[in-house]
Amino acid sequence: MGKPTGFKEFVRETPAERDASLRILDWNEFHQHMPEADLRKQGARCMDCGVPFCHTGDLMANMATGCPVNNLIPEWNDLVYRGHWREALDRLHKTNNFPEFTGRVCPAPCEGSCVLGIIEPPVTIKNIECSIIDHGFEQGWVVPQPPAHRTGKTIAVVGSGPAGLAAAAQLNKAGHTVTVFERADRIGGLLMYGIPNMKLDKGVVERRVNLLSEEGVKFVTSTEIGKDIPADKLLNEFDAVILCTGATRPRDLPIPGRQLKGIHYAMEFLHANTKSLLDNGLTNGHYISAKDKRVIVIGGGDTGTDCLGTSMRHGCRSIVNFEIVPMPPQTRAPNNPWPQWPRVFKVDYGHAEVEAKWGKDPREFSIETVEFYGDEQGNVKGLKAHQVDWSKPIPGGPPFSPVPGSERTFDCDLVLLAMGFLGPESPVASQLGVALDPRSNYKAEFEKYRTSNEKVFAAGDCRRGQSLVVWAINEGRGAARECDRWLMKSTQLP
Ligand SMILES: Cc1cc2nc3c(=O)[nH]c(=O)nc-3n(C[C@H](O)[C@H](O)[C@H](O)COP(=O)(O)OP(=O)(O)OC[C@H]3O[C@@H](n4cnc5c(N)ncnc54)[C@H](O)[C@@H]3O)c2cc1C
Ligand code: SF4
Repeated sequence: MGKPTGFKEFVRETPAERDASLRILDWNEFHQHMPEADLRKQGARCMDCGVPFCHTGDLMANMATGCPVNNLIPEWNDLVYRGHWREALDRLHKTNNFPEFTGRVCPAPCEGSCVLGIIEPPVTIKNIECSIIDHGFEQGWVVPQPPAHRTGKTIAVVGSGPAGLAAAAQLNKAGHTVTVFERADRIGGLLMYGIPNMKLDKGVVERRVNLLSEEGVKFVTSTEIGKDIPADKLLNEFDAVILCTGATRPRDLPIPGRQLKGIHYAMEFLHANTKSLLDNGLTNGHYISAKDKRVIVIGGGDTGTDCLGTSMRHGCRSIVNFEIVPMPPQTRAPNNPWPQWPRVFKVDYGHAEVEAKWGKDPREFSIETVEFYGDEQGNVKGLKAHQVDWSKPIPGGPPFSPVPGSERTFDCDLVLLAMGFLGPESPVASQLGVALDPRSNYKAEFEKYRTSNEKVFAAGDCRRGQSLVVWAINEGRGAARECDRWLMKSTQLP
Protein backbone atom coordinates (compact mmCIF):
# COMPACT_ATOMS: atom_id res chain seq x y z
CA MET A 1 0.00 0.00 0.00
CA GLY A 2 1.67 3.16 -1.25
CA LYS A 3 0.17 5.83 1.01
CA PRO A 4 -1.80 4.67 4.04
CA THR A 5 -3.62 8.00 4.31
CA GLY A 6 -4.13 8.45 0.55
CA PHE A 7 -7.84 7.74 0.62
CA LYS A 8 -8.32 10.45 3.26
CA GLU A 9 -6.20 13.05 1.49
CA PHE A 10 -7.29 12.77 -2.12
CA VAL A 11 -10.75 12.81 -3.68
CA ARG A 12 -11.67 10.69 -6.69
CA GLU A 13 -10.92 12.40 -9.98
CA THR A 14 -11.32 11.06 -13.50
CA PRO A 15 -9.67 12.55 -16.58
CA ALA A 16 -11.72 15.20 -18.37
CA GLU A 17 -13.20 13.84 -21.60
CA ARG A 18 -13.02 15.92 -24.77
CA ASP A 19 -15.73 18.60 -24.88
CA ALA A 20 -18.97 16.86 -25.91
CA SER A 21 -20.08 19.57 -28.33
CA LEU A 22 -16.70 19.59 -30.13
CA ARG A 23 -15.93 15.87 -30.23
CA ILE A 24 -19.12 15.13 -32.22
CA LEU A 25 -17.43 16.92 -35.11
CA ASP A 26 -14.94 14.09 -35.58
CA TRP A 27 -14.47 10.34 -34.99
CA ASN A 28 -11.44 10.55 -32.71
CA GLU A 29 -11.47 9.00 -29.24
CA PHE A 30 -13.12 11.07 -26.53
CA HIS A 31 -10.86 9.70 -23.74
CA GLN A 32 -7.98 11.77 -22.40
CA HIS A 33 -5.27 10.82 -19.92
CA MET A 34 -4.53 12.53 -16.60
CA PRO A 35 -1.16 14.13 -15.90
CA GLU A 36 1.10 11.59 -14.19
CA ALA A 37 1.19 13.41 -10.84
CA ASP A 38 -2.63 13.37 -10.62
CA LEU A 39 -2.79 9.74 -11.62
CA ARG A 40 -0.35 8.77 -8.90
CA LYS A 41 -2.60 10.47 -6.34
CA GLN A 42 -5.50 8.40 -7.61
CA GLY A 43 -3.38 5.25 -7.18
CA ALA A 44 -2.62 6.39 -3.62
CA ARG A 45 -6.35 6.24 -2.77
CA CYS A 46 -6.25 2.42 -2.97
CA MET A 47 -6.34 0.96 0.55
CA ASP A 48 -4.80 -2.45 -0.41
CA CYS A 49 -7.71 -4.13 1.37
CA GLY A 50 -7.21 -7.47 3.10
CA VAL A 51 -9.97 -8.86 0.91
CA PRO A 52 -9.74 -6.93 -2.37
CA PHE A 53 -13.28 -7.38 -3.71
CA CYS A 54 -12.23 -5.36 -6.77
CA HIS A 55 -10.36 -8.32 -8.23
CA THR A 56 -12.64 -11.18 -7.21
CA GLY A 57 -14.53 -11.42 -10.53
CA ASP A 58 -17.76 -13.12 -9.57
CA LEU A 59 -21.44 -12.99 -10.42
CA MET A 60 -23.83 -11.48 -7.86
CA ALA A 61 -27.49 -10.91 -8.67
CA ASN A 62 -26.51 -12.08 -12.19
CA MET A 63 -24.12 -9.15 -12.73
CA ALA A 64 -20.32 -9.00 -12.57
CA THR A 65 -18.85 -7.91 -9.27
CA GLY A 66 -15.13 -7.29 -9.24
CA CYS A 67 -12.84 -7.74 -12.22
CA PRO A 68 -13.72 -10.78 -14.37
CA VAL A 69 -10.09 -11.28 -15.39
CA ASN A 70 -8.96 -10.92 -11.75
CA ASN A 71 -6.65 -8.01 -12.47
CA LEU A 72 -4.18 -7.51 -9.57
CA ILE A 73 -5.58 -4.05 -8.95
CA PRO A 74 -4.15 -3.14 -5.51
CA GLU A 75 -0.68 -4.21 -6.68
CA TRP A 76 -0.63 -2.00 -9.75
CA ASN A 77 -2.28 0.91 -7.94
CA ASP A 78 0.61 0.82 -5.48
CA LEU A 79 3.20 0.55 -8.26
CA VAL A 80 1.69 3.51 -10.10
CA TYR A 81 1.69 5.58 -6.90
CA ARG A 82 5.41 4.84 -6.56
CA GLY A 83 6.08 5.56 -10.25
CA HIS A 84 7.12 1.95 -11.08
CA TRP A 85 5.32 1.87 -14.42
CA ARG A 86 7.21 -1.01 -15.97
CA GLU A 87 6.44 -3.31 -13.05
CA ALA A 88 2.81 -2.17 -13.10
CA LEU A 89 2.63 -3.14 -16.77
CA ASP A 90 4.06 -6.59 -16.08
CA ARG A 91 1.48 -7.16 -13.32
CA LEU A 92 -1.31 -6.03 -15.63
CA HIS A 93 -0.28 -8.35 -18.46
CA LYS A 94 -0.24 -11.31 -16.08
CA THR A 95 -4.04 -11.38 -16.01
CA ASN A 96 -5.19 -9.36 -19.00
CA ASN A 97 -3.97 -9.84 -22.58
CA PHE A 98 -5.60 -6.62 -23.80
CA PRO A 99 -5.75 -3.91 -21.12
CA GLU A 100 -5.84 -1.23 -23.83
CA PHE A 101 -9.32 -2.53 -24.75
CA THR A 102 -10.74 -2.94 -21.24
CA GLY A 103 -9.12 0.32 -20.11
CA ARG A 104 -11.24 2.07 -22.74
CA VAL A 105 -14.52 0.15 -22.93
CA CYS A 106 -14.99 -1.85 -19.72
CA PRO A 107 -17.89 -0.66 -17.54
CA ALA A 108 -15.55 -1.32 -14.59
CA PRO A 109 -17.42 -3.67 -12.27
CA CYS A 110 -14.20 -3.49 -10.21
CA GLU A 111 -15.08 0.07 -9.21
CA GLY A 112 -18.59 -1.01 -8.17
CA SER A 113 -17.06 -3.43 -5.66
CA CYS A 114 -14.15 -1.23 -4.46
CA VAL A 115 -14.22 -1.22 -0.63
CA LEU A 116 -13.60 2.53 -0.55
CA GLY A 117 -16.91 2.80 -2.44
CA ILE A 118 -18.79 1.97 0.79
CA ILE A 119 -17.99 5.40 2.24
CA GLU A 120 -16.46 7.45 -0.59
CA PRO A 121 -16.37 7.45 -4.39
CA PRO A 122 -14.32 4.38 -5.43
CA VAL A 123 -10.75 4.32 -6.72
CA THR A 124 -10.59 5.23 -10.43
CA ILE A 125 -9.28 1.81 -11.45
CA LYS A 126 -10.18 1.74 -15.15
CA ASN A 127 -8.32 4.97 -15.96
CA ILE A 128 -5.23 3.77 -14.14
CA GLU A 129 -5.36 0.52 -16.13
CA CYS A 130 -5.62 2.42 -19.42
CA SER A 131 -2.76 4.75 -18.49
CA ILE A 132 -0.45 1.86 -17.55
CA ILE A 133 -0.83 0.13 -20.91
CA ASP A 134 -0.81 3.30 -23.00
CA HIS A 135 2.35 4.40 -21.17
CA GLY A 136 3.82 0.94 -21.87
CA PHE A 137 3.19 1.31 -25.60
CA GLU A 138 4.59 4.87 -25.61
CA GLN A 139 7.78 3.65 -23.93
CA GLY A 140 8.16 0.78 -26.41
CA TRP A 141 7.85 -1.83 -23.66
CA VAL A 142 5.11 -3.84 -25.40
CA VAL A 143 6.95 -5.97 -27.95
CA PRO A 144 6.21 -9.31 -29.65
CA GLN A 145 7.10 -12.28 -27.45
CA PRO A 146 7.00 -15.38 -29.66
CA PRO A 147 7.17 -18.73 -27.85
CA ALA A 148 10.61 -20.31 -27.42
CA HIS A 149 9.47 -23.64 -28.90
CA ARG A 150 6.55 -25.05 -30.90
CA THR A 151 4.59 -28.12 -29.79
CA GLY A 152 3.51 -29.20 -33.28
CA LYS A 153 -0.17 -29.02 -32.27
CA THR A 154 -2.50 -26.98 -34.46
CA ILE A 155 -5.63 -25.14 -33.33
CA ALA A 156 -8.35 -23.34 -35.29
CA VAL A 157 -10.07 -20.41 -33.57
CA VAL A 158 -13.34 -19.36 -35.25
CA GLY A 159 -14.11 -15.68 -34.67
CA SER A 160 -11.66 -12.86 -33.90
CA GLY A 161 -13.44 -10.88 -31.17
CA PRO A 162 -11.85 -10.48 -27.74
CA ALA A 163 -12.59 -14.12 -26.84
CA GLY A 164 -10.94 -15.47 -30.01
CA LEU A 165 -7.96 -13.12 -29.72
CA ALA A 166 -7.41 -13.99 -26.04
CA ALA A 167 -7.61 -17.73 -26.79
CA ALA A 168 -5.19 -17.33 -29.71
CA ALA A 169 -2.73 -15.27 -27.64
CA GLN A 170 -2.64 -17.82 -24.83
CA LEU A 171 -2.41 -20.93 -27.02
CA ASN A 172 0.33 -19.34 -29.08
CA LYS A 173 2.19 -18.52 -25.87
CA ALA A 174 2.00 -22.24 -24.99
CA GLY A 175 3.73 -23.02 -28.30
CA HIS A 176 0.76 -24.26 -30.34
CA THR A 177 0.24 -23.13 -33.93
CA VAL A 178 -2.96 -21.08 -34.03
CA THR A 179 -5.04 -19.99 -37.03
CA VAL A 180 -7.88 -17.51 -36.45
CA PHE A 181 -10.69 -17.53 -39.04
CA GLU A 182 -12.86 -14.41 -39.34
CA ARG A 183 -15.74 -13.83 -41.75
CA ALA A 184 -15.37 -10.03 -41.70
CA ASP A 185 -12.68 -8.28 -43.72
CA ARG A 186 -10.94 -7.01 -40.58
CA ILE A 187 -9.91 -8.73 -37.35
CA GLY A 188 -11.40 -7.76 -33.98
CA GLY A 189 -15.07 -8.83 -33.84
CA LEU A 190 -17.14 -6.22 -32.01
CA LEU A 191 -13.93 -4.43 -31.00
CA MET A 192 -13.57 -3.58 -34.68
CA TYR A 193 -17.09 -3.39 -36.11
CA GLY A 194 -19.35 -2.96 -33.05
CA ILE A 195 -17.80 -0.41 -30.69
CA PRO A 196 -17.28 2.80 -32.70
CA ASN A 197 -13.98 4.54 -33.27
CA MET A 198 -14.61 7.39 -30.82
CA LYS A 199 -14.83 4.87 -27.98
CA LEU A 200 -12.08 2.52 -29.17
CA ASP A 201 -9.76 3.72 -31.91
CA LYS A 202 -9.34 1.02 -34.53
CA GLY A 203 -5.61 1.71 -34.66
CA VAL A 204 -5.50 0.44 -31.07
CA VAL A 205 -7.12 -2.84 -32.18
CA GLU A 206 -4.85 -3.20 -35.22
CA ARG A 207 -1.75 -2.52 -33.12
CA ARG A 208 -2.55 -5.56 -30.93
CA VAL A 209 -3.49 -7.75 -33.89
CA ASN A 210 -0.13 -6.90 -35.51
CA LEU A 211 1.68 -7.90 -32.32
CA LEU A 212 -0.13 -11.24 -32.28
CA SER A 213 0.80 -11.77 -35.95
CA GLU A 214 4.43 -11.07 -35.17
CA GLU A 215 4.23 -13.58 -32.33
CA GLY A 216 3.12 -16.23 -34.85
CA VAL A 217 -0.71 -16.25 -34.82
CA LYS A 218 -2.11 -16.69 -38.35
CA PHE A 219 -5.18 -14.68 -39.34
CA VAL A 220 -7.53 -15.59 -42.21
CA THR A 221 -10.14 -12.90 -42.95
CA SER A 222 -13.25 -12.83 -45.18
CA THR A 223 -13.74 -16.56 -44.53
CA GLU A 224 -16.93 -17.81 -42.93
CA ILE A 225 -16.64 -21.21 -41.34
CA GLY A 226 -19.74 -23.22 -42.18
CA LYS A 227 -20.05 -21.47 -45.55
CA ASP A 228 -16.68 -20.80 -47.21
CA ILE A 229 -15.08 -23.72 -45.38
CA PRO A 230 -17.26 -26.56 -44.01
CA ALA A 231 -16.91 -26.58 -40.23
CA ASP A 232 -16.18 -30.32 -40.08
CA LYS A 233 -13.16 -29.80 -42.36
CA LEU A 234 -11.53 -28.01 -39.42
CA LEU A 235 -11.88 -31.19 -37.37
CA ASN A 236 -9.77 -33.09 -39.90
CA GLU A 237 -7.15 -30.40 -40.37
CA PHE A 238 -6.60 -29.19 -36.78
CA ASP A 239 -5.98 -30.90 -33.45
CA ALA A 240 -8.64 -28.77 -31.75
CA VAL A 241 -11.21 -26.08 -32.60
CA ILE A 242 -12.27 -23.16 -30.40
CA LEU A 243 -15.55 -21.45 -31.29
CA CYS A 244 -15.63 -17.73 -30.45
CA THR A 245 -18.31 -16.68 -32.92
CA GLY A 246 -20.13 -14.19 -30.69
CA ALA A 247 -23.88 -13.83 -30.14
CA THR A 248 -24.75 -11.87 -33.24
CA ARG A 249 -28.42 -12.78 -33.88
CA PRO A 250 -30.32 -9.52 -33.18
CA ARG A 251 -33.66 -9.35 -31.34
CA ASP A 252 -36.40 -8.08 -33.67
CA LEU A 253 -39.49 -5.97 -32.98
CA PRO A 254 -42.24 -7.70 -34.98
CA ILE A 255 -44.97 -5.04 -34.74
CA PRO A 256 -47.13 -3.48 -37.49
CA GLY A 257 -45.04 -1.41 -39.91
CA ARG A 258 -41.77 -3.27 -39.23
CA GLN A 259 -41.27 -3.76 -43.01
CA LEU A 260 -41.04 0.01 -43.68
CA LYS A 261 -37.86 1.46 -45.15
CA GLY A 262 -35.64 3.23 -42.62
CA ILE A 263 -35.91 0.63 -39.81
CA HIS A 264 -32.59 -1.12 -39.25
CA TYR A 265 -30.83 -3.30 -36.74
CA ALA A 266 -28.22 -1.32 -34.81
CA MET A 267 -25.40 -3.55 -36.04
CA GLU A 268 -26.22 -2.90 -39.71
CA PHE A 269 -25.82 0.80 -38.90
CA LEU A 270 -22.68 0.53 -36.76
CA HIS A 271 -20.81 -2.07 -38.84
CA ALA A 272 -21.29 -0.26 -42.15
CA ASN A 273 -20.33 3.06 -40.59
CA THR A 274 -17.00 1.84 -39.21
CA LYS A 275 -16.19 -0.06 -42.39
CA SER A 276 -16.83 2.98 -44.57
CA LEU A 277 -14.92 5.22 -42.12
CA LEU A 278 -11.88 2.93 -42.25
CA ASP A 279 -12.10 2.21 -46.00
CA ASN A 280 -12.21 5.83 -47.13
CA GLY A 281 -13.35 8.25 -44.44
CA LEU A 282 -17.11 7.81 -45.18
CA THR A 283 -16.74 9.14 -48.73
CA ASN A 284 -18.08 6.04 -50.51
CA GLY A 285 -21.57 6.41 -49.00
CA HIS A 286 -21.72 2.68 -48.20
CA TYR A 287 -23.39 3.24 -44.85
CA ILE A 288 -26.78 4.22 -43.44
CA SER A 289 -26.64 7.95 -42.86
CA ALA A 290 -28.50 9.70 -40.02
CA LYS A 291 -27.73 13.14 -41.50
CA ASP A 292 -30.68 15.54 -41.13
CA LYS A 293 -32.87 12.65 -39.95
CA ARG A 294 -35.11 12.39 -36.91
CA VAL A 295 -33.69 9.29 -35.29
CA ILE A 296 -35.24 6.97 -32.71
CA VAL A 297 -33.00 4.37 -31.08
CA ILE A 298 -35.04 1.59 -29.50
CA GLY A 299 -33.05 -0.03 -26.70
CA GLY A 300 -30.39 1.27 -24.35
CA GLY A 301 -27.14 -0.32 -23.23
CA ASP A 302 -23.82 0.06 -24.99
CA THR A 303 -25.31 -0.64 -28.43
CA GLY A 304 -27.98 2.06 -28.04
CA THR A 305 -25.39 4.55 -26.79
CA ASP A 306 -23.13 3.84 -29.76
CA CYS A 307 -26.06 4.49 -32.11
CA LEU A 308 -26.57 7.87 -30.40
CA GLY A 309 -22.90 8.82 -30.71
CA THR A 310 -22.73 7.71 -34.36
CA SER A 311 -25.96 9.54 -35.32
CA MET A 312 -24.67 12.71 -33.64
CA ARG A 313 -21.51 12.57 -35.72
CA HIS A 314 -23.55 12.14 -38.93
CA GLY A 315 -25.44 15.34 -38.04
CA CYS A 316 -28.92 13.99 -37.21
CA ARG A 317 -31.79 16.49 -36.86
CA SER A 318 -33.07 15.06 -33.58
CA ILE A 319 -32.65 11.89 -31.56
CA VAL A 320 -34.64 10.01 -28.93
CA ASN A 321 -33.64 6.83 -27.08
CA PHE A 322 -36.36 4.47 -25.83
CA GLU A 323 -35.73 2.28 -22.78
CA ILE A 324 -38.43 -0.18 -21.79
CA VAL A 325 -37.10 -0.35 -18.23
CA PRO A 326 -37.85 2.32 -15.60
CA MET A 327 -35.35 5.10 -14.92
CA PRO A 328 -32.76 3.75 -12.42
CA PRO A 329 -32.32 5.54 -9.08
CA GLN A 330 -29.54 8.11 -8.59
CA THR A 331 -28.01 6.06 -5.75
CA ARG A 332 -28.04 2.33 -4.91
CA ALA A 333 -31.47 0.93 -4.03
CA PRO A 334 -31.70 -1.11 -0.77
CA ASN A 335 -31.91 -4.35 -2.81
CA ASN A 336 -28.70 -3.48 -4.70
CA PRO A 337 -26.04 -3.21 -1.97
CA TRP A 338 -22.26 -2.99 -2.33
CA PRO A 339 -20.36 -4.97 -3.71
CA GLN A 340 -22.99 -5.71 -6.36
CA TRP A 341 -22.82 -3.92 -9.69
CA PRO A 342 -24.53 -0.56 -8.97
CA ARG A 343 -27.77 -0.31 -10.97
CA VAL A 344 -27.91 3.49 -10.85
CA PHE A 345 -28.61 6.24 -13.38
CA LYS A 346 -25.52 6.77 -15.52
CA VAL A 347 -24.78 9.28 -18.23
CA ASP A 348 -22.72 7.62 -20.96
CA TYR A 349 -20.84 9.46 -23.69
CA GLY A 350 -23.70 9.39 -26.23
CA HIS A 351 -26.22 10.78 -23.73
CA ALA A 352 -23.79 13.56 -22.79
CA GLU A 353 -23.33 14.50 -26.44
CA VAL A 354 -27.07 14.80 -27.10
CA GLU A 355 -27.51 16.85 -23.95
CA ALA A 356 -24.60 19.14 -24.91
CA LYS A 357 -26.26 19.87 -28.26
CA TRP A 358 -29.94 20.08 -27.33
CA GLY A 359 -29.88 20.58 -23.55
CA LYS A 360 -31.82 17.39 -22.82
CA ASP A 361 -30.95 13.77 -22.11
CA PRO A 362 -32.34 11.71 -25.04
CA ARG A 363 -33.79 8.89 -22.93
CA GLU A 364 -37.48 8.08 -22.51
CA PHE A 365 -37.97 5.38 -19.83
CA SER A 366 -40.71 2.75 -19.35
CA ILE A 367 -41.84 3.16 -22.94
CA GLU A 368 -42.94 0.45 -25.38
CA THR A 369 -43.22 0.86 -29.15
CA VAL A 370 -46.40 -0.69 -30.56
CA GLU A 371 -46.57 0.39 -34.21
CA PHE A 372 -44.55 2.04 -36.99
CA TYR A 373 -46.27 4.06 -39.70
CA GLY A 374 -44.98 5.40 -42.99
CA ASP A 375 -45.61 7.49 -46.11
CA GLU A 376 -46.92 6.36 -49.50
CA GLN A 377 -43.40 5.41 -50.64
CA GLY A 378 -43.08 2.98 -47.75
CA ASN A 379 -40.65 5.07 -45.69
CA VAL A 380 -41.03 5.12 -41.94
CA LYS A 381 -42.40 8.47 -40.78
CA GLY A 382 -43.25 7.84 -37.15
CA LEU A 383 -44.18 5.42 -34.44
CA LYS A 384 -46.76 4.94 -31.72
CA ALA A 385 -45.68 4.09 -28.19
CA HIS A 386 -47.14 3.94 -24.72
CA GLN A 387 -45.82 4.05 -21.17
CA VAL A 388 -45.62 0.78 -19.25
CA ASP A 389 -46.14 0.11 -15.57
CA TRP A 390 -43.70 -2.45 -14.10
CA SER A 391 -45.69 -2.75 -10.88
CA LYS A 392 -48.51 -4.39 -12.83
CA PRO A 393 -47.23 -7.52 -14.62
CA ILE A 394 -49.66 -9.31 -16.94
CA PRO A 395 -50.24 -12.88 -15.69
CA GLY A 396 -48.72 -15.27 -18.24
CA GLY A 397 -47.50 -12.27 -20.28
CA PRO A 398 -44.89 -9.51 -20.02
CA PRO A 399 -43.70 -8.31 -16.58
CA PHE A 400 -45.37 -4.92 -17.17
CA SER A 401 -48.66 -3.56 -18.52
CA PRO A 402 -49.57 -0.53 -20.67
CA VAL A 403 -50.59 2.64 -18.82
CA PRO A 404 -54.12 3.47 -20.07
CA GLY A 405 -54.32 6.73 -22.02
CA SER A 406 -50.49 7.11 -22.27
CA GLU A 407 -50.18 6.53 -26.04
CA ARG A 408 -48.02 9.05 -27.88
CA THR A 409 -46.72 9.41 -31.44
CA PHE A 410 -43.14 10.31 -32.36
CA ASP A 411 -42.06 11.51 -35.81
CA CYS A 412 -38.97 9.82 -37.24
CA ASP A 413 -37.14 8.98 -40.49
CA LEU A 414 -34.67 6.46 -39.10
CA VAL A 415 -35.27 3.79 -36.45
CA LEU A 416 -32.40 1.75 -35.00
CA LEU A 417 -33.23 -1.46 -33.15
CA ALA A 418 -30.77 -2.03 -30.29
CA MET A 419 -32.71 -4.54 -28.22
CA GLY A 420 -30.07 -7.14 -27.57
CA PHE A 421 -28.94 -10.40 -29.15
CA LEU A 422 -30.28 -13.94 -29.12
CA GLY A 423 -27.22 -16.14 -29.53
CA PRO A 424 -24.86 -17.37 -32.26
CA GLU A 425 -26.25 -17.40 -35.78
CA SER A 426 -24.26 -19.66 -38.08
CA PRO A 427 -24.64 -23.35 -39.00
CA VAL A 428 -21.28 -24.08 -37.35
CA ALA A 429 -22.83 -25.87 -34.37
CA SER A 430 -24.83 -28.35 -36.42
CA GLN A 431 -21.88 -29.08 -38.76
CA LEU A 432 -19.67 -29.84 -35.75
CA GLY A 433 -22.29 -31.74 -33.78
CA VAL A 434 -22.18 -29.16 -30.98
CA ALA A 435 -25.24 -29.15 -28.69
CA LEU A 436 -27.00 -25.88 -27.79
CA ASP A 437 -28.24 -24.78 -24.37
CA PRO A 438 -31.87 -23.70 -23.77
CA ARG A 439 -30.94 -20.09 -24.75
CA SER A 440 -29.50 -21.38 -28.10
CA ASN A 441 -25.89 -20.68 -27.10
CA TYR A 442 -23.20 -23.33 -27.59
CA LYS A 443 -23.48 -25.64 -24.61
CA ALA A 444 -20.27 -25.82 -22.58
CA GLU A 445 -19.73 -25.53 -18.84
CA PHE A 446 -18.17 -22.29 -17.52
CA GLU A 447 -14.47 -22.81 -16.75
CA LYS A 448 -14.45 -26.10 -18.72
CA TYR A 449 -15.51 -24.71 -22.13
CA ARG A 450 -15.72 -28.20 -23.65
CA THR A 451 -18.70 -28.68 -26.00
CA SER A 452 -20.48 -31.94 -26.73
CA ASN A 453 -17.80 -32.59 -29.38
CA GLU A 454 -14.61 -33.42 -27.45
CA LYS A 455 -12.36 -31.67 -29.99
CA VAL A 456 -14.36 -28.45 -29.85
CA PHE A 457 -14.34 -25.72 -27.17
CA ALA A 458 -16.53 -22.60 -27.00
CA ALA A 459 -15.87 -19.25 -25.32
CA GLY A 460 -17.22 -15.71 -25.12
CA ASP A 461 -20.65 -14.46 -26.17
CA CYS A 462 -21.42 -17.61 -28.21
CA ARG A 463 -21.27 -19.60 -24.95
CA ARG A 464 -22.49 -17.15 -22.29
CA GLY A 465 -24.74 -14.87 -24.40
CA GLN A 466 -24.11 -11.20 -25.18
CA SER A 467 -21.90 -9.87 -22.40
CA LEU A 468 -18.78 -7.75 -21.94
CA VAL A 469 -15.34 -7.54 -23.51
CA VAL A 470 -13.74 -8.40 -20.17
CA TRP A 471 -15.81 -11.60 -19.84
CA ALA A 472 -14.89 -12.54 -23.41
CA ILE A 473 -11.19 -12.17 -22.51
CA ASN A 474 -11.73 -14.24 -19.36
CA GLU A 475 -13.43 -17.01 -21.36
CA GLY A 476 -10.91 -16.97 -24.21
CA ARG A 477 -8.09 -17.41 -21.68
CA GLY A 478 -10.01 -20.17 -19.90
CA ALA A 479 -10.80 -22.06 -23.10
CA ALA A 480 -7.13 -21.85 -24.11
CA ARG A 481 -6.12 -23.30 -20.73
CA GLU A 482 -8.58 -26.20 -21.01
CA CYS A 483 -7.68 -26.87 -24.64
CA ASP A 484 -3.97 -26.94 -23.74
CA ARG A 485 -4.69 -29.28 -20.82
CA TRP A 486 -6.58 -31.64 -23.13
CA LEU A 487 -3.90 -31.60 -25.85
CA MET A 488 -0.86 -31.88 -23.57
CA LYS A 489 -2.40 -33.74 -20.57
CA SER A 490 -1.33 -30.85 -18.29
CA THR A 491 -1.09 -27.08 -18.60
CA GLN A 492 0.94 -24.15 -17.35
CA LEU A 493 -1.58 -21.60 -18.65
CA PRO A 494 -3.41 -19.59 -15.92
C1 LIG B 1 -22.51 -2.14 -30.40
C2 LIG B 1 -21.91 -2.85 -29.23
C3 LIG B 1 -21.18 -2.12 -28.31
C4 LIG B 1 -20.61 -2.76 -27.22
N1 LIG B 1 -19.91 -2.01 -26.33
C5 LIG B 1 -19.30 -2.63 -25.28
C6 LIG B 1 -18.53 -1.87 -24.36
O1 LIG B 1 -18.43 -0.65 -24.46
N2 LIG B 1 -17.91 -2.55 -23.34
C7 LIG B 1 -17.99 -3.91 -23.21
O2 LIG B 1 -17.36 -4.48 -22.31
N3 LIG B 1 -18.73 -4.65 -24.07
C8 LIG B 1 -19.38 -4.03 -25.09
N4 LIG B 1 -20.14 -4.78 -25.96
C9 LIG B 1 -20.17 -6.25 -25.81
C10 LIG B 1 -18.85 -6.86 -26.31
O3 LIG B 1 -18.45 -6.22 -27.50
C11 LIG B 1 -19.00 -8.36 -26.52
O4 LIG B 1 -19.43 -8.94 -25.31
C12 LIG B 1 -17.66 -9.00 -26.95
O5 LIG B 1 -17.16 -8.40 -28.11
C13 LIG B 1 -17.85 -10.50 -27.17
O6 LIG B 1 -16.66 -11.03 -27.67
P1 LIG B 1 -16.62 -12.38 -28.52
O7 LIG B 1 -15.21 -12.56 -28.89
O8 LIG B 1 -17.32 -13.44 -27.76
O9 LIG B 1 -17.52 -12.10 -29.81
P2 LIG B 1 -17.52 -10.98 -30.93
O10 LIG B 1 -16.78 -9.76 -30.50
O11 LIG B 1 -18.95 -10.82 -31.31
O12 LIG B 1 -16.71 -11.62 -32.12
C14 LIG B 1 -17.20 -12.73 -32.81
C15 LIG B 1 -16.57 -12.77 -34.19
O13 LIG B 1 -16.84 -14.03 -34.79
C16 LIG B 1 -17.05 -13.82 -36.17
N5 LIG B 1 -17.77 -14.97 -36.68
C17 LIG B 1 -19.03 -15.38 -36.36
N6 LIG B 1 -19.35 -16.51 -37.01
C18 LIG B 1 -18.26 -16.83 -37.78
C19 LIG B 1 -18.00 -17.88 -38.69
N7 LIG B 1 -18.88 -18.85 -38.91
N8 LIG B 1 -16.80 -17.90 -39.31
C20 LIG B 1 -15.86 -16.93 -39.08
N9 LIG B 1 -16.09 -15.90 -38.23
C21 LIG B 1 -17.27 -15.86 -37.57
C22 LIG B 1 -17.84 -12.54 -36.21
O14 LIG B 1 -17.77 -11.93 -37.50
C23 LIG B 1 -17.13 -11.73 -35.14
O15 LIG B 1 -16.09 -10.97 -35.69
C24 LIG B 1 -20.76 -4.16 -27.05
C25 LIG B 1 -21.51 -4.90 -27.97
C26 LIG B 1 -22.09 -4.25 -29.05
C27 LIG B 1 -22.91 -5.04 -30.02
S1 SF4 C 1 -10.85 -5.06 -16.85
FE1 SF4 C 1 -12.69 -3.91 -16.22
S2 SF4 C 1 -13.23 -4.80 -14.25
FE2 SF4 C 1 -11.10 -5.41 -14.66
S3 SF4 C 1 -9.80 -3.82 -13.70
FE3 SF4 C 1 -10.15 -3.20 -15.83
S4 SF4 C 1 -11.91 -1.82 -15.75
FE4 SF4 C 1 -11.91 -3.01 -13.84
